[in-house]
Order: sequence, then structure tokens, then C-alpha cells
Amino acid sequence: MVVGVLVELSNKNIDKIFDYSVPLDLQSFIKVGIRVEIPFGRQTLEGFVLNIKDETSVSNIKDIIGIVDSEIVLNEELLLLGREIQKNTLSTLISCYQVMLPKALKAKRGVLVNKKFDTYYKLNEDVSLDNLKGKQLEIVNLCKNGSVLRSDLINISLSSLNTLIKKGIILEEKREHYRLSYSNKKLDKKILTFDQMSAVSSVGNTHDVYLLHGVTGSGKTEVYMELIDKCLLCGKSSIVLVPEISLTPQMVDRFQRRFGDNIAAIHSALSEGEKYDEWRRIVRGEAKIVIGARSAIFAPLDNIGMIIIDEEHSDSYKQDDSNPRYSAKDVAIIRGKYHNCPVVMGSATPSLESFARAKKGVFKLLSLPNRINGKGLPDVEIIDMNNEIKRSKGHFSIPLLAAISEKIMKNEQVILLLNRRGYSSFITCKNCGYTFKCPNCDISLTYHKTSNTLRCHYCGYGTKVYEVCPECKEKSLNNLGVGTEKVEEELKGLFPDARILRMDFDTTSRKGSHEKMITAFKNHEYDILLGTQIVAKGLDFENVTLVGVINADTSLNIPDFRSSENTFSLLSQVAGRSGRSSRSGEVIIQSFNPEHYAIEYSKKHDYLGFYNKEMTIRRELKYPPYYYICYIKISGKDKDLVLLESNKIKRSLDRNINNSIILGPSPSTIFRLNNIYRYGIIIKYKNDDNIREILDKIIEHYKNNQHIKIDIDFNPSHF
Ligand code: ADP
Ligand code: ZN
Repeated sequence: MVVGVLVELSNKNIDKIFDYSVPLDLQSFIKVGIRVEIPFGRQTLEGFVLNIKDETSVSNIKDIIGIVDSEIVLNEELLLLGREIQKNTLSTLISCYQVMLPKALKAKRGVLVNKKFDTYYKLNEDVSLDNLKGKQLEIVNLCKNGSVLRSDLINISLSSLNTLIKKGIILEEKREHYRLSYSNKKLDKKILTFDQMSAVSSVGNTHDVYLLHGVTGSGKTEVYMELIDKCLLCGKSSIVLVPEISLTPQMVDRFQRRFGDNIAAIHSALSEGEKYDEWRRIVRGEAKIVIGARSAIFAPLDNIGMIIIDEEHSDSYKQDDSNPRYSAKDVAIIRGKYHNCPVVMGSATPSLESFARAKKGVFKLLSLPNRINGKGLPDVEIIDMNNEIKRSKGHFSIPLLAAISEKIMKNEQVILLLNRRGYSSFITCKNCGYTFKCPNCDISLTYHKTSNTLRCHYCGYGTKVYEVCPECKEKSLNNLGVGTEKVEEELKGLFPDARILRMDFDTTSRKGSHEKMITAFKNHEYDILLGTQIVAKGLDFENVTLVGVINADTSLNIPDFRSSENTFSLLSQVAGRSGRSSRSGEVIIQSFNPEHYAIEYSKKHDYLGFYNKEMTIRRELKYPPYYYICYIKISGKDKDLVLLESNKIKRSLDRNINNSIILGPSPSTIFRLNNIYRYGIIIKYKNDDNIREILDKIIEHYKNNQHIKIDIDFNPSHF
């Protein structure tokens, strides 16, 4: 027996299938989709069995060493899916398979996460119980009515128990104990509104892609749950994707209340062990509904009946920091075709690409135009900070301050958003203008108050804070920029009696802390929730009647063609947190560009207006959805060599790709990162006739080059 094995080394050089022979004693364990141990050069590595055959033309093949998995880790569908992703993203096949599996499965031997077991005891029915007395009889009586958990056997004699086990009277049984537990209640089912019902009934049971455009608070989640319930009735499973963890606790909670322990939740806040447990519950069919962030799209479910992507505009669905640079939305469509099931993408502010597809009829458009509570969307007031800055010293305009104090007086709650995109608190010298930069990257260091250090958010470099400017030796260092900590301090000074909860990357990084904060705020243990983008999404607090945006502009100023779209979407999303119950809500947005269309349309809650305006700009500037974009990153340690090779690549693209616009090479936004220099080339193209073929040749050309690394990102979420 010969197996074709894809070796677990993500190197373009060896991304192919190698043949190995299988010793007789291992042959019965071999299945396609399991991993085996193999000799590779002088090392022992792991690899996936991709095919099984009787013989090979390759001479001198080696034996595999051992079997890693007893169960298949990549089923037939996932094996095909990996190939498709490889074709679409041009990354290595092995990286496409690795991205599908939980880390615990990828870990090298020795650090594998263990399964946890509980020990149970039960009576052996085939053994006579005569002649038992005293302590032994006591134990036997305890186990008479079925298996008993070890921890429930209290005050018993351990030696008697051991004797009973030795005699074969009591049987010991290990059962797997999953780290997470879900309570099994099914109460929370709402009676759908007419709009919700018609959305549900428009979704068929074959493959189509639907775009559910529903304003904030229109009851999209209820529609998802109803669709999933229908699938369950037919014995089918579902996947629900949500953007990162920020959305997950409340969402999981709602699904759990409706579907009990039929759900498995996968998100970054789980430990590797918990993820591994959830993964195996899914494989075994013990959970039919999988909820999770991007990578949950690879959940090893079979018989999928529905794939839901909530907040589909979120850029978190695109993996952009490592290969394969895939989009979970594309993967959803591939899986939807395979299972012949619908894919439903929902949002209050759909991405331009998706909405354009819906208008063309490629996606089917469903809409929920009204809020469930029957109230309109909250009133939005825009404050022109150009005037306010003369009146108030801090970050808060007078109208916003007045509104906050009014709400607190009425015992209502407030959410404040500090728009931190592309923003950080860095330190400069007031005297000579010196700023602290990372020695490895072209990036200003960020000031962290709690640890009183300066840190690089890219490479992790850290240093203590100086009192004296290293350049001019003056004691004139100034903490510029706004961090949430600084705003929190200001807020505490302004409202000494208010209970303020700060939520940002720093305060939510500890496991479970985010969930605790949300619960505490929901229980009104705090009056004001102050946070970064993390507070804008999906949260549903009924007592919140004011949302304030401290600085609407920061995300507008980012040099990215999506900056208006992202700003419009952020403002609409955060505004949607206000007035979600019987009380109506209001929104106050502070801005230095009050007439910018992204801000004006968000004031009017006018998605269509924004869409039309933004589309004319995209058409003019030849950006998506009118053109596709591919970003090629060329990087290396030698600055001159990187530029030289980048120019060669550009010339080769110019020669070979027609009907496209090729820009660059230009230095990346962060030119030097960890002492690696980076150039980028952008290809804008209308149809992808030969583009992957040409790029594949370029990758092939550089695959043995130690000094130059090529990364390709189709449809990048940002540059
Ligand atoms: P969205 O996801 O569109 O922002 P949600 O699904 O969170 O909206 O719904 C908003 C609020 O309305 C939630 O508190 C939800 O429980 C409630 N809700 C949704 N549908 C109904 C319904 N049919 N009847 C009563 N309440 C509903
Ligand atoms: Zn750095």
C-alpha cells in the first residue's frame, strides 16, 4: 500500500504530495484525510494522507512511521475546499488545510491539548452480589441505579471500592468531559413580525446567496434563528458567522436560549482546549449549530442546510495577516454550492460589493426596513467641532456634556465611542518635535499608561517612558493623541458621581472579561460605557438612550479607498445602539468635517443615498465594485534589492496582463516592519482571465529566493 502525503511544512518548495509506503501492521488504520508521521530528510514530520494507491512509479520510497489520527480530520468536502481556496488565493495547499483545523490539532507532539475525562462507576450485572457486606455493600447500593460520577461518591472507603473493581463487581468507565457546558433550555422564541416572516419565507432551500438588509434593531437575529430552526427540523446543520468576539457573547446567549446545547461556539476567547472540544462535538454531530468568527466557516459539519453571515460588511471576514488570505464569505459560497444550501448575509450597512451584487440580481435582496419597537431610528445631531473647540477645552462639546448629564439624571445609560482607527497616543517633544519611534519599524510608539511604557503595536518592542527628550534634552515631552484612558480620566473629572466602564483592547484582552463587562453594563452597574470600535457592534442594551461619538473623523482620514464606507458604517452601527426598546434614543456625533457625505448620510440614516454617492466615486477612481483589486507585497531585508525586484515584477505584469491598471511599486504604509522592507504593487482589473496564471509564475520564480518574499492578497480589506 502506498499513500500520497502532503507534508506539514508551509514552504512553497515542498508544497506537493510525496509517496510513502505503509507497513502491513498500519494498513488497516489508513484513511484519506488522517494525518501520519513520516520521515522527511533527517526530520520526522506530520502530513495529511490525500490518496491511497497500490503502487507508485517513484523508486526508493520510505515507510510512514506512524498514524496520528484515529478519526478523519479532513473529510472529502474539506479536502476539495482546500484545493479551491488554494486556487483562489495562490497560497500553499498545506496552509489552506492548516487554516481549517483548530490549533490543538496542528500542535507538534508533546503540546497536544488533552481530552478531559470524568470517571463513572457502575455495577457489573453479570456478577453475583452474594456475600457482600459492610462498606462494599454500601458502595454497591450507591451504584445500583445506574452509573455514578466519581465526585458523587462521597464518604466511601476507597480501598473497598478498589477491591470491588478488582473483583469485577464494579466497573470503571471514563467518559469525555467537555470543557464548556451549555444549559439546555428552549424558551426564547418570539412571534415574528410580518416583515420578518416574509424574509424567512423568501429564503428557499437550495443554493442561493441572499443579502438581508435590515436597519439596526430590525430583528435580523430572530430571522436567522427561524431559518436555522427550519433546518433543524429537516435534520440539517447550520453555520453562523459573526465578526470577532465583540459580538459573540450576546449572540451566543440568544442562540443558547433558543437552541440549548445544540450549539457549538468557536471564538478567539476560547482556550485551545475548549476549541478542540467544540471541534470534536461538531465532528461527532453532537452540535448542529456552529457559531463563530471567521474560521468557523471551516466547521467540519456535514449536511449543512444554512450558512448565515451576520454583519457581512465587517472586514474581519477577510484574513489579511497571513496565508491563505481568504474571505470567509467566498468560502461560505463554495460550501453553500457543495451542500446546495442558502447563504444569508445580513447587515444594516451592507458592503458596497454585496449591495451592488444584490442590485444586479447576483444576490437576492431581502429587507427589514423598520425597527421592531415600532419607533423610528434615533435622532442624530452633528456637532461642528471647529466651533466647539473654541468654547471647550477637552474632548467634549457642550451639547454632548449636557445630554450626558441629562441621561444620567434620568437614570438612563450612555455609550460613548472613541474612534481609534488609525489613531494612537504617541509622545512628542513640544520643544523640538521629536517623536519616539520603534527601532525596528517605521511606527510611532504608543503610550500605555497602566504600565507606563512605550510600545510598538506591530513588533511588540517596548521601552520605559523618558522624562527628558533624548534629542534636545528639554523636559518638554507631551502626550499627544487620545487614548481611551485619557478620555476616561477627563470624563471622571466632569462626572465624578457617574459609574464609568471603559472597554478597549487593553481592558478586554483577559479571557471572559469582555463578557463580564457586557453583563455588568446590561445590569446597570454602570452609567456610561466608553470604548473603541468594540462598543459599536451588535450590542443590545434596552436602557441606552444616548450614543455619543467623540471623534467621527479619525476613520475618514485614513488613506484607504474604503475610509468613507467604513466611517458611514461605523457611525450607523454605533447609532443603532441607541433607543432599542420602548424609549426612543438620540445620537450626538462630534466632527471636524460635518459636511462630509459619510457623516451627512449617517445623520439621515440614508444607506441608499450613501451607496449611490459612494458608487459614483468608486466608478470614477476605478475601485471595487467596478474593478477588482489585487495587492502584491514584495518584502526583504535588503532595501535596494526589494525595490529592484519589485520593478522587475511590475514590468513583467505590464507586459502580460491586459485591460488592467498596475500601480507601484510604492513603499507600504509601514515601509519597514521588524527590519523587513516592504513594497506594494496594486493591480486593478476587470476580469481575471489570466491574472492568477501570471501571478503563479511570479511566485514560482521567487520560490527558491531566500532574499525576496512575495505575498498576494486578492480583494484586500485595506492597504
Ligand atoms: P438586529 O440584529 O437587526 O439589530 P435584533 O435581532 O437584535 O435586531 O432585534 C432587536 C431587538 O428586538 C432584540 O431585543 C430582539 O429580542 C427583539 N425582537 C426581535 N424580533 C422580535 C419579535 N418578532 N418580537 C419581539 N421582539 C423581537
Ligand atoms: Zn516595532
